[in-house]
Amino acid sequence: MDSELRELYQQVILDHNKSPRNFRKLENSNFEAEGYNPLCGDRIDIFIQVENDIVKDISFQGSGCAISKASASLMTHMVKGKTRAEAEKLFAKFHDLITGKLGDKPSIEDLGKLAVFAGVKEFPARVKCASLAWHTMHSALEKEEKVISTE
Ligand code: ZN
Repeated sequence: MDSELRELYQQVILDHNKSPRNFRKLENSNFEAEGYNPLCGDRIDIFIQVENDIVKDISFQGSGCAISKASASLMTHMVKGKTRAEAEKLFAKFHDLITGKLGDKPSIEDLGKLAVFAGVKEFPARVKCASLAWHTMHSALEKEEKVISTE
């Protein structure tokens, strides 16, 4: 990871950890899931309101490390307004990014700020922190109404 991206990564993590976006309970959500990452102790609840196949609103609550919280904050920001299929596609691409499957020079146009998580691939234990919110979002949309785990 070059120094510019590393600095941006730290800024984004700090910013979203300090002032997480969409950090609240959604009153009229029709999809919900709870996620848990036992390796780090991150816990997260995702609330999604889907209308006409569009993620009209999405929020999260929970406690965990800075990476899990910042990732959840960015995830809700990126997924809001997208169709369910688009949200799943973004999850797949994000997962490829943080597991190194996109290579060293990922095309980042459609990933936006998510690209700052590229460096996570160097820290396998952190991949679970960064992907927890996404796995939980996926689980909510699949309506698997149970506690999911990244294990
Ligand atoms: Zn964590």
